[in-house]
Amino acid sequence: MTEAVEKLTKKSDDPSRWYVQLVRMAKLADYGPVRGTFAIRPYGYEVWERIQRDLDDRFKATGHKNAAFPLLIPESFLMKEADHVEGFAPECAWVTMGGDDELEERLAIRPTSESIICDFYRDWIHSYRDLPVLINQWCNVMRWEKVTRPFLRSSEFLWQEGHTVHATAEEAREETLRMLGVYQDTFHEMLAIPVLTGRKSPSERFSGAVETFTCEALMGDGRALQAATSHDLGQNFAEAFDISFLDENQNRVRPYQTSWGFSTRVIGAMILVHGDDRGLKIPPRIAPTEAVIVPIWRGKNKPEVRREAETLFSELKAANFRMEVDLDEEHSPGWKFNEHELRGVPVRVEIGPKDIEKGQVVLVRRDTGEKESVPRSGLAERLRDLLQTIQEDMLRAAAAFRHENTHNVETYEEFREVIAERRGFVVAPWDGTEETEAKIKEETKATIRLLPFERQEGKDLVSGKPGETAVFARAY
Ligand code: AMP
Repeated sequence: MTEAVEKLTKKSDDPSRWYVQLVRMAKLADYGPVRGTFAIRPYGYEVWERIQRDLDDRFKATGHKNAAFPLLIPESFLMKEADHVEGFAPECAWVTMGGDDELEERLAIRPTSESIICDFYRDWIHSYRDLPVLINQWCNVMRWEKVTRPFLRSSEFLWQEGHTVHATAEEAREETLRMLGVYQDTFHEMLAIPVLTGRKSPSERFSGAVETFTCEALMGDGRALQAATSHDLGQNFAEAFDISFLDENQNRVRPYQTSWGFSTRVIGAMILVHGDDRGLKIPPRIAPTEAVIVPIWRGKNKPEVRREAETLFSELKAANFRMEVDLDEEHSPGWKFNEHELRGVPVRVEIGPKDIEKGQVVLVRRDTGEKESVPRSGLAERLRDLLQTIQEDMLRAAAAFRHENTHNVETYEEFREVIAERRGFVVAPWDGTEETEAKIKEETKATIRLLPFERQEGKDLVSGKPGETAVFARAY
């Protein structure tokens, strides 16, 4: 039987086309009717749920509780913090009608919730005994983005936003960095994505923050992606929303705040970091299906192979693996191999008449393509080890790729050449001025992704003035 099967574009030929095609073909997401909106399909949503569960556990372990705040934010709230409104007003979708009536005040569909949450915090915080406030919200937000792409930059996206309040500046800074570390751990341990951490330059700071810290990841095409951010808000929002508390000496003082966010963008990062010409590679810990059984049957042996495949499925399911068995009779084993490779299932379990005879199965790794025969008796144990190995090897491979694509450059000419031809992270001193940052951006399209925590002194390649290490890249 021949079928018109859509063929996946090669990643190296056209990474953008490959990306959007893969999102659709692997049934991760589908386009919505309003620009920049997407349905996340069950297969994509399960990846998100697994990441979400991990992060949520980490939030709880660091003392946070979840809550839910209103979706609609009165315009006057957004206006209270000058930088915040300047940054976010152009990205807001506004509600102006309620039924047939025009509203007296426009309402923004939350692009982020600092303003509305601060309005509640003013009433909830009175004394030093009320602090710290450690609250997180899982929700959807809306930003009227100009250029959109599923997961990476959508108009509506799912995320979590943490909003905390502290008595001192030191505590707030500590919290900001703690949550940056939490994100970093989730990227490493769940998504198998190594991220660089550091602070943003002032021009890339969150509107209203005194300092923004970021996790930056390198995608397979050499472009960077801001994968999650953690903001030290200082007293900016406390001032704007008049939040204060009585300290231990009965003085009325302003608290310090943080906010931090991590979105469905990370699924885009997973696709771009690990995916290849054959499709997705989902790290085992976040894979909806850890292993898929594909029976290899021909004609008369079908009933027997089918029965064995079903038994194997029940056994592995009972051993707590997230399993699928592909008993479809219309497609050939080869077709199924391609399909499950496209979906990025970490391990394929093949079972055919010869394997049944020998009391074994064949395991095939999605990440490397390696095959091995494994006796049925020790299968669960071997599969468990193999999934762990794949998880670790995927992180190692991504780290090796990042290492190969991180360049220390000595001259601006070299800088431009690397950015234009090889992409990747470029490490060079920056004099700290907006002028050189803007000039570099204009001439090379590279932006400062972050300023590392440990910086070396050197000469800015553009101005020749004294500077300190910055990491540049073209970014998504
Ligand atoms: P922010 O509050 O602006 O720092 O955003 C927090 C995180 O959300 C960012 O670090 C991004 O990873 C992610 N994010 C921001 N805008 C979008 C978008 N349009 N689509 C998906 N994720 C986004």
